[in-house]
Amino acid sequence: MLHITCPWCGPRAQTEFSYEDDATRTRPTIDDTNAEMHFDYVYQRDPRMGVQDELWRHGAGCGKFVKVRRNTLTHEITATGAPHDDFDGDAK
Ligand SMILES: [Zn+2]
Repeated sequence: MLHITCPWCGPRAQTEFSYEDDATRTRPTIDDTNAEMHFDYVYQRDPRMGVQDELWRHGAGCGKFVKVRRNTLTHEITATGAPHDDFDGDAK
């Protein structure tokens, strides 16, 4: 079983969380009128093997979203934080 460290609650069992989405996707704005862009955002996923950033929600705890850096092949979690946290430390 995975253990995910919620930044607000501490380490918890994966069963308290639900996977929500890829954390790197950018939601189109309301002003984006390109229907294909909205379709892709809602329905298209690029499955990746290896390290990726994901959004999980701590539904059985604080209810907040947690950003998780997880290797999808080994399930190793190397970082968790708030959704806006930048694990790579790149200035934006
Ligand atoms: Zn929590």
